[in-house]
Amino acid sequence: MSVPSPAVLTHQHPVTRADALARVAQFAPHAGADYAARRNLDQGAGRHDAVSRLSAALARRTVSEADVLAPVLAQHGDAAALFVSEVFWRTYFKGWLEARPFVWHGWLGALDRIDARLGQDDALAARHLSAIRGETGIDCFDHWIGELAATGYLHNWARMQVASIWIFTLGLPWELGARHFLHHLIDADAASNTLSWRWVAGLHTRGKTYLADASRIMRMTGGRFAPTGLATRALVPDAPDLPPALPLRDTIAPDGGLPTLVWITRDDCSLETEPALHGLPVRAVAVIDPGDAPEADRTALADGLARAAAHWQVPACHVAGAEALAALATECGARQVVTGRVPTGPGQDALIAARGALRRAGLVLTEHTRAWDRHAWPHATRGFFACREKIPALLAQAGLAAGKTPQ
Ligand SMILES: Cc1cc2nc3c(=O)[nH]c(=O)nc-3n(C[C@H](O)[C@H](O)[C@H](O)COP(=O)(O)OP(=O)(O)OC[C@H]3O[C@@H](n4cnc5c(N)ncnc54)[C@H](O)[C@@H]3O)c2cc1C
Repeated sequence: MSVPSPAVLTHQHPVTRADALARVAQFAPHAGADYAARRNLDQGAGRHDAVSRLSAALARRTVSEADVLAPVLAQHGDAAALFVSEVFWRTYFKGWLEARPFVWHGWLGALDRIDARLGQDDALAARHLSAIRGETGIDCFDHWIGELAATGYLHNWARMQVASIWIFTLGLPWELGARHFLHHLIDADAASNTLSWRWVAGLHTRGKTYLADASRIMRMTGGRFAPTGLATRALVPDAPDLPPALPLRDTIAPDGGLPTLVWITRDDCSLETEPALHGLPVRAVAVIDPGDAPEADRTALADGLARAAAHWQVPACHVAGAEALAALATECGARQVVTGRVPTGPGQDALIAARGALRRAGLVLTEHTRAWDRHAWPHATRGFFACREKIPALLAQAGLAAGKTPQ
């Protein structure tokens, strides 16, 4: 095992572009052999320096996958294969869910039904409460639930143990665990979260479950935990077979000649970095007030708005909602609103509201799909390993190759 590297940044989970790029620069030297050797070690809160902690920025597209991978590939080439493939897991999950929005809607529907059951089944409600309070008596689980609440982050390996214990030892519905994570994670991401929970439960790769093991937990955490009473069998939860994947949702692409209002959402906070949008006649940029959204969302949106306004040299505006967005677009003479493609997940409600309000105002809502997604998502149809085979070609298509920085 290589020598542990020093903690790589003062800010634990950067969400502004400047902070995230600083983290990329500091982490890139560790993304090769170091990462491969140490990435699965859970060293505890404040000591997760074997992993990049870039997920909060990547989930909001404060930095892109290419921003992260360019320096990593330039420094390590093929020695960074593991890190590169981890980054592609995010892309894969996003593309997979995009072709199966019914999995997201099915999860939302299941939550309604389970919430109703929680009101009637005292034993289930008590088990659930002890899990979300971290009072189960299972040392590692209770610790990780506390770490999640206190820091908004868990190491990937810890997430797998928590999800497995939640489902197989505590016998709780995976859907409730996915909600708990989504509410607390600083990197909350509809696709990575929902599909990782399904993966642990044995629903993503049908029948292939992930069972937490006490001695492995002891070893991987440097002896910090010695859990007892963990399930020794993993029973896949009942779930209906999924319908086939759908064609990717059609979007209206921006018209390069139309006066434009740029709308920054949590799903893409660095639209100004997209060369395809540089020539747009932009009149203003806006965010919809995120209400009581977490601090990380507010920071990322404010940062994205300021950068976009500086890039296009236009006013930065805050609006209260979809109707106000449409009013602003009309007022500044825009004929279209351009936003980053909103993937399947919580952002779609705002998208639908904005589309309706803009249509009523005689305006069109267009979505910019990044080339990264356009190229990769069609390969996210089956398991990850089929997608992984395409990574060299996808990197080449993005102008990224070992030892080269993109043009
Ligand atoms: C039950 C469960 C729930 C999860 N929920 C989320 C979530 O809501 N949001 C989220 O961003 N990730 C989620 N993940 C995936 C993964 O745990 C995090 O992306 C990762 O821990 C983030 O830390 P990092 O940036 O330091 O990762 P690093 O190890 O430095 O990886 C670099 C990047 O690769 C991607 N990545 C790494 N591992 C995975 C993975 N297993 N799946 C998908 N992408 C990955 C992320 O973009 C990450 O930032 C979940 C995993 C599990 C098991």
